Amino acid sequence: MSVYLGIDIGTSGTKTLAVREDGEILASATFEYPLSNPQPGWSEQNPEDWWTASADGVQAVLQQGKITPESVRGIGLSGQMHGSVFLNKQQQVIRPALLWNDQRTALECQEIESRAGGRAALIEMVANPALTGFTAPKILWLRNHEPKHYEQLTQVLLPKDYVRFRLTGEYATEVSDASGTLLLDVRHRCWSQALLSRLEIDPALLPKVYESEEVSGHLSASAAKRLGLPAGVPVVGGGGDQAAGAVGNGIVSRGVISATLGTSGVVFAHSDEVQIDPDGRLHTFCHAVRGKWHVMGCVLSAGGSLQWYRNQLGQPEKATAEAMGVDPYVLLNAEAAQAPAGSEGLFFLPYLTGERSPLNDPHARGAWIGLTWRHGRPHLVRSVMEGATFAMRDCLEVTKEMQIPVGEIRVSGGGARSPFWRQLQADIYGQPVSTINAEQGPAYGVALLAAAGTGAYKDVVEACQATIRVVSQTPPDATAKARYDAAYPVYRQLYRSLKNDFPKIEALVTG
Ligand code: ADP
Repeated sequence: MSVYLGIDIGTSGTKTLAVREDGEILASATFEYPLSNPQPGWSEQNPEDWWTASADGVQAVLQQGKITPESVRGIGLSGQMHGSVFLNKQQQVIRPALLWNDQRTALECQEIESRAGGRAALIEMVANPALTGFTAPKILWLRNHEPKHYEQLTQVLLPKDYVRFRLTGEYATEVSDASGTLLLDVRHRCWSQALLSRLEIDPALLPKVYESEEVSGHLSASAAKRLGLPAGVPVVGGGGDQAAGAVGNGIVSRGVISATLGTSGVVFAHSDEVQIDPDGRLHTFCHAVRGKWHVMGCVLSAGGSLQWYRNQLGQPEKATAEAMGVDPYVLLNAEAAQAPAGSEGLFFLPYLTGERSPLNDPHARGAWIGLTWRHGRPHLVRSVMEGATFAMRDCLEVTKEMQIPVGEIRVSGGGARSPFWRQLQADIYGQPVSTINAEQGPAYGVALLAAAGTGAYKDVVEACQATIRVVSQTPPDATAKARYDAAYPVYRQLYRSLKNDFPKIEALVTG
């Protein structure tokens, strides 16, 4: 038997999976760690915690799955993207890592755009605009605000690549995660010398870039001892959590798209050629599939909008659900089903935390529009779910505009757990949605990359074909689809009508 380990260094914890070569999951373990917010908008973690959680996770799955250490043939790494681990020449961490959701770098984003010669020039070089969460602005922040730390800096690593360094002693990354640094020439799959020189960042600070299924190093003797494995086990490149999660969903060929409706929502499309939106509405990154790319849109408050409704207005349903011993979301779904498709003209804009894709507008705000005496609680809750799903459709529409076909849509995340929301998605996207057998996300994806990269499969596409299959399909209802097709342009126009007022509304609050 051959076993592959997938380790996903998430924001709340690290999940480790042990997967057999035929895709069967043998064991799974998660170890959590804290997140610190030393100032408003700052978000940091201690890289040592990632290492401890990864090492403990491997030990736990070996024990739980009764896996003989010699049967482990490869390790794949995934993790939260964009984070920055800063190391000095003694290979020690200089300060806590800045994470993907850290917001301190607004000025550095402006600096990057101006040094690059403008937004369009930047997108031309690295395929994406500067966003506060990305890695490059964090490096500039260190230089601008902590020059003593910057002087000591010899290496910048992404979160999963720090764990790789602890496993193998190598400084390495792979194309999918590197795409989120804003320093990768995404078109050519290598560091952008042009942007590095404009930003005056020494290329030696960055690790070697591999393709995601390539072997990037081998388990060192000391790491092997800590993990309970033989030394020399290959560690493949792996992938950033989005690309690795997509591999875990089988999104590895043209026309297969995923729509993940969790707290935030992600639309992810495989692309055979590099397709860059000149307006930067969707991200274009290298995929974890060799020589391929993907585009991705992120809706900040997708399922989060329904969560907000449940917490703020769903007290009656919550109380009833508790008495019945069921999940409040089940009752909210049943209530939403009492209102007709389109909520009789009630629209909800889900921009509770601004919006990322495709609007790129931190000032956008949520709203109900179209309220009348006729509307009751069923309309309120249904319109929230519809608004979140329209926001996902916005990303799908840009994907189509970029000439990337939307053939099959695979849905996942909390929003796909409910048959009602699956139907709503089919009706609003206007085509069938499917679900698959695998639900383990990025850790599963990188275990498949490890299997492919160490020879169990020809490549990761073959690994996905052998292990992942569709288990349900929900076609759209023709009447509901027609109503949503009519309502969607109105939904889109509402944001445009309100766009200029949102900053004024924000100013009333912030003074
Ligand atoms: P996260 O993105 O935080 O990892 P999930 O993928 O589990 O979490 O998604 C959580 C969201 O999924 C909730 O905010 C809610 O909107 C939605 N959700 C969860 N369960 C259900 C359900 N049974 N019916 C409808 N929506 C649900």
